[in-house]
Amino acid sequence: MTGSLSGLPGISIIDDGAGDAAVASVRRPASPEAAEANGGPVEAKVVIVGSGPAGLTAAIYAARANLEPVVLAGYVPGGQLMITSDVENYPGFPGGVQGPELMSLFREQAARFGTRLVDVDVDRVDLSSRPFRLWAAGVEYRAQALIVASGASALWLGLESETRLRGKGVSACATCDGFFFRGKKVAVVGGGDTALEEATFLTRFASEVVLIHRRGDFRASKIMRDRALAHPQISVRWHSAIEEVEGDQVVTGLTLRDTRTGKLTDEAVDGLFVAIGYRPNTEVFRDWLEVDERGYLVVRDETGSRIEGVFIAGDVHDHRYRQAVTAAGDGCRAAIDAERWLETVEPVTPVAAPAPAVAAPSVA
Ligand code: NDP
Repeated sequence: MTGSLSGLPGISIIDDGAGDAAVASVRRPASPEAAEANGGPVEAKVVIVGSGPAGLTAAIYAARANLEPVVLAGYVPGGQLMITSDVENYPGFPGGVQGPELMSLFREQAARFGTRLVDVDVDRVDLSSRPFRLWAAGVEYRAQALIVASGASALWLGLESETRLRGKGVSACATCDGFFFRGKKVAVVGGGDTALEEATFLTRFASEVVLIHRRGDFRASKIMRDRALAHPQISVRWHSAIEEVEGDQVVTGLTLRDTRTGKLTDEAVDGLFVAIGYRPNTEVFRDWLEVDERGYLVVRDETGSRIEGVFIAGDVHDHRYRQAVTAAGDGCRAAIDAERWLETVEPVTPVAAPAPAVAAPSVA
């Protein structure tokens, strides 16, 4: 793209309240900080929604391409890695790295090249025309290009003990954490494809895998069901719900409730994998972008969407790989696509400010 957006006509009219007649003065476009303090609009070449590996990698690439990205990072920034302890499969960390530390490094790297990170959730968007408009915490952001990298959230059972023991034996990712359960007994809760896939994967490490399912029949596909049921290391507790995850510092067992009789039993395990599904974080985009039957965003032409200038990266569309490294790769691709696309289009002038009461001198 030629030219800089800061050179676009972004004249703000300030009423200083002096006298009866409104006195208008013309200022340079407000700094992002000042614009934020006034409710916006904050103008940006690229706005990225989400601050997991996809969003922050997109930010690193966009920032290094001089696109001065704004990342709307969420009130709980960092994505799913913030609730993961040891990450041993992210290349470049032969000794492993803690999930939150990894995300803090991503963030530092994005900020180093001029990314502006704002820890707010997006409440509403309007993608009907460019600049795309987003509202977060009462501030309007306007983007020439938008990268949606809002991720997906694993569903949890909702038990206090499950939350307390997350990262201490409770996990939602066998690929990430299975390795830590070599020779141990673990449980997997759920009856869909994810649960059966996780259970089968865990047999590579765990000596015994107990599948806990609330009904008497799996929802999973026949092939996954047959494979799990035939596996000598996998057993099933049918009609069982988890009443409590036991353990003080680490998981030591589960209290199960028979969903037909209410009878409670104990199951000694060293770990619990929760595999009851994922929810892609697409709420604010659903009216604008295509979603598939599972609620994930639909990608067109690699990282594009049905709206030109809106790009998609990471778990918000990927229900297949769901890995930090694949999300990061996706963020890189989306940023490169956004950069190339921006080069082909003219920047769109922000919505005009009200006409000044006095003739405005041209802004340098
Ligand atoms: P699903 O929604 O298919 O299954 C969720 C499972 O968790 C169900 O068995 C459900 O029980 C159970 N469950 C939900 N909430 C609770 C709860 N609060 N307590 C206990 N159990 C609960 O999600 P998946 O993630 O398994 O699959 C999502 C989609 O992704 C599916 O379409 C699946 O086919 C696909 N997928 C495909 C894979 C592959 O092809 N390799 C791998 C993984 C997923 P109930 O059955 O009683 O409702």
